[in-house]
Amino acid sequence: MSYRVKSYAAQSSSSPLAPFQFERRSPRADDVVIEILYCGVCHSDVHNVRNDWGNANYPMVPGHEIIGRVIATGAAVTRFKEGDHVGVGCLVASCQRCDACDHGHEQYCQNGATYTYNHNDPIDGTRTFGGYSEKIVVAEDFVLKVPNTLDLAGAAPLLCAGITTYSPLRHWKVGKSSKVAIVGLGGLGHMGLKLAKAMGAEVTLFSRSPGKEDDARRLGADHIVISTDVKQMAAVAGRFDLIINTVPCKHDVNPYIPTLASGGTMVMVGYLGPLDNFNTGPLVFRRKALAGSLIGGIAETQEMLDFCGRHGIHSDIERIAIQDINQAFERMLKADVKYRFVIDMNTLKESI
Ligand code: NAP
Ligand code: ZN
Repeated sequence: MSYRVKSYAAQSSSSPLAPFQFERRSPRADDVVIEILYCGVCHSDVHNVRNDWGNANYPMVPGHEIIGRVIATGAAVTRFKEGDHVGVGCLVASCQRCDACDHGHEQYCQNGATYTYNHNDPIDGTRTFGGYSEKIVVAEDFVLKVPNTLDLAGAAPLLCAGITTYSPLRHWKVGKSSKVAIVGLGGLGHMGLKLAKAMGAEVTLFSRSPGKEDDARRLGADHIVISTDVKQMAAVAGRFDLIINTVPCKHDVNPYIPTLASGGTMVMVGYLGPLDNFNTGPLVFRRKALAGSLIGGIAETQEMLDFCGRHGIHSDIERIAIQDINQAFERMLKADVKYRFVIDMNTLKESI
């Protein structure tokens, strides 16, 4: 049996998202069928829909911060049952036999992981469509358990914004003596502040936007540095062990390097393309590093959800109806969101 579902889709890089119906693939023995309750709106959804990365296929149904309820399971499914609250993030398949997969890094699968949307199912080749829809069919190995202490709508952004900041914090071993900075207070940035603080770090926010100070402190920042203010930047020279840079577009990254301590690392999570005029000198002379990081593996995503469950960490969200999604994209482009839009999927029922 396949499922005909309502969704919102983009038909081209310039058309607004609009109602669209399609068939979900028939569930296989290891599949879980999920009724989607909430879906977060990631800046990557905007990049994908507008074809910023040049690999868009239309129609495209975005959404990779999915929280839902299990409504059916295949015969081979052992970890989930009808009624369970579950999450699905950016990945829905990987080869599960390469070195990266063996180490739990499915996002770096050497044979190519399968993304939740704008990709092809590795078994039957059907297009993958994301969470701006009523239901999704996902192999149980890529489905996450949602701790019952978490608010479901506030948990949705953990599936991408949460894991994308948690993974580098863990990889670079952030703990009580660490000094961490986050660049950009948006969806990823606000999760970075909360998670770094919960890991015991001293946390600083770099923002171009005066006016976010009170929010930043409430979210976990001990210090705020306005990144366009040369004096404020000079005052934090040599300070940080780790900087997570969440800025979604090309910008000058040079000014952040002097703020790293010797041996410190700045991790880029935005895919900005070639950097103009990047000066390697300050890296060489203090063994500093510029690195990248992509979401996190499935086991690490479960670890992050459990961590958030224990520490009471949710995303700060603005709930929207699916009918308001185009306006939400525009507001996100203006950095006018506190701090993640989450779509209440119930509102999809009112669409044709
Ligand atoms: P977002 O909610 O729009 O937040 C981005 C923040 O960056 C803004 O709030 C703003 O903070 C700052 N910013 C925006 N435009 C800027 C500009 N022109 N110059 C300097 N700062 C600017 O975006 P998001 O959802 O957090 O996503 C951030 C980026 O991460 C996107 O590019 C997305 O595609 C990428 N991403 C990567 C991964 C991964 O696995 N690597 C996963 C998810 C998303 P201030 O106002 O405080 O300066
Ligand atoms: Zn995302």
